Amino acid sequence: MSLERAAELVATAQHGLALTGAGVSAESGIPTFRGEGGLWTKYDPVKVSSIESFLADPTSYWSVSKDRGRVALAARPNPGHMALAAMEAAGYLVAIVTQNTDGLHQDAGSKRVIELHGSGRMVRCLECGRLEARSAVQTRLEVEMPPRCLTCGSAFLKPTVILFGEPMPAAAMHDALELAGQADVMLVVGSSLVVHPAAEVPLVAVRAGARMIVINAEPTPFDRFAEVVIHGRSGEVLPQIAALIGA
Ligand code: NAD
Ligand code: ZN
Repeated sequence: MSLERAAELVATAQHGLALTGAGVSAESGIPTFRGEGGLWTKYDPVKVSSIESFLADPTSYWSVSKDRGRVALAARPNPGHMALAAMEAAGYLVAIVTQNTDGLHQDAGSKRVIELHGSGRMVRCLECGRLEARSAVQTRLEVEMPPRCLTCGSAFLKPTVILFGEPMPAAAMHDALELAGQADVMLVVGSSLVVHPAAEVPLVAVRAGARMIVINAEPTPFDRFAEVVIHGRSGEVLPQIAALIGA
């Protein structure tokens, strides 16, 4: 029933916007942070994912990031990513705002992807600014820990993701909030909606009059603001919605 209601709503969108979190990539084999089996049941997030701890000890950061990077680089888009790309191609979505850093929306063919937390596909030297593909650094991790900059030798090579304690990318945040203010349909997928300021995006959309759909494995704090809530797996739910609207 709620599938049909969600499809009806998406079909009315003139300016549909999606916000995605780690849950949309769970079925691609990339573990989420929160939720069942989430990484934070194993690690202390502030210890492994803050800029302070990275600067204090890049080796510890990379020893955790090595395994996660291997998984993320091998991951392929799942039917949820594909359905979102199809909805954009069919004109139901103008953009995807994502909290993910895995690049899977782009791999699925989504054209306008706003990465609020940066991208894990590149690595930057904090000393000289040299950019290198994460895949190249990933190969070096097997023989060099921490990896060093090929230009200046610095040990402070950091993936271009936003760590705790770092500012949000201003342009991405600006674009996301502007799109949210114009949205008529807000589709939230696989986000626990507890990470701020990313969670502001659907709030801004709803305040500006957007009708919201939430698709998540478990309840979120914003379910009560949504017109349709579907508790399920995005890789199963999104293709069914796309099929109902012919996307
Ligand atoms: P989160 O880990 O806090 O929450 C993920 C949510 O997805 C949970 O509420 C969970 O119940 C739900 N979920 C799990 N499997 C699902 C499925 N198959 N279908 C639908 N929902 C499912 O993620 P978050 O809110 O995005 O915040 C954590 C931050 O960590 C992110 O903002 C991101 O920056 C980073 N992160 C990125 C990745 C990635 O790039 N794939 C993975 C983990 C964490
Ligand atoms: Zn350098």
